[in-house]
Amino acid sequence: MEFIDTVIGPWTIKEWAIGLVIFGVLLQIGTTIKHKFLADKATGNLRKARCPACRWNGKVSKFHHTCPKCGNNIVRA
Ligand SMILES: [Zn+2]
Repeated sequence: MEFIDTVIGPWTIKEWAIGLVIFGVLLQIGTTIKHKFLADKATGNLRKARCPACRWNGKVSKFHHTCPKCGNNIVRA
């Protein structure tokens, strides 16, 4: 097992391998946090609303201004 002590650039092969594993773990953690953050953001944009025309009641994106059922303007609850 001498090859793992071969120096490539600033590190030996063994250190490169350890570095790659740590990098992979960090990348995995980063992806998990990003997905959680995006999911929170998506639900955070939902607002309660109701439709005065067809009496629909529910949650829509805050950028959404029409009733998903009949297409009339909705009222924020
Ligand atoms: Zn409606």
